[in-house]
Amino acid sequence: MRVISLSSGSEGNMFYLESEKVKVLIDIGLSCNEAVRRLGLIGVKPNEIDVILVTHEHNDHTKGVDAFSYKFDIPVFAHRDVWENMNIKLKKTPSKNRRFYETDGFRLRDVQVKAVPLPHDVPCFGYIFENNGSKISILTDIGHTNERILDSVRGSQLVYLEANYDRDMLTAGTKYPPALKRRISGGRGHISNDEAAMVIRSLVMTGTRQIVLAHLSKENNTPLLAYTYISDRLKEFGIIEGTHVKIDVATTEPGTMFRL
Ligand SMILES: [Zn+2]
Ligand SMILES: [Zn+2]
Repeated sequence: MRVISLSSGSEGNMFYLESEKVKVLIDIGLSCNEAVRRLGLIGVKPNEIDVILVTHEHNDHTKGVDAFSYKFDIPVFAHRDVWENMNIKLKKTPSKNRRFYETDGFRLRDVQVKAVPLPHDVPCFGYIFENNGSKISILTDIGHTNERILDSVRGSQLVYLEANYDRDMLTAGTKYPPALKRRISGGRGHISNDEAAMVIRSLVMTGTRQIVLAHLSKENNTPLLAYTYISDRLKEFGIIEGTHVKIDVATTEPGTMFRL
């Protein structure tokens, strides 16, 4: 498989993953035109996409889904519960392209996909992709982690993991009203650098060697802060970034293409 973050963060999220037999977009939180442009940067034509897999209905994940699906006749695939919120948002997508799953796993040709529910303020799912012994997980918009989530992700060589905010920046910031701060840091919002570090610590023990920090807040985090804070926390547990695990940061620009 190969996988890339084409945009990550509260401004818009979009991943691309492909195997020998299938090409998948995970979320399109950019305009349709921008999504097409970014796919062009990696040599993929929009009509080559087999399916748009959606994590949840928030606009930073679905902004361009309707237009992209309509224009290129691509099916949109999401959990039945996600469709409850998304159906009215997607005006142009024809019913034949509104596809749902309701089990916790399904196949996309040669890729086995596991969908794990994430605690968030709307129904939301993380995805774990397996093919030929490779395992890649994408987990963003996580209110808090639990054993079910960690169990599903364990054994992934590569994990895209949310590191949304720095606690001190969120507390000290003056832009967000208290209610929004509570929403973000509550159990159904997002996870902090601190919580991400604890998840990474657990994943490294079960073999994960590459982490990409994702869905960073523009207001309450920076790529450098997330990277240094988390590396320092891991060091306290004897985990050295660069030796035991590599940590990249996904930003609003296309990131590294990983091949597994
Ligand atoms: Zn989001
Ligand atoms: Zn969200």
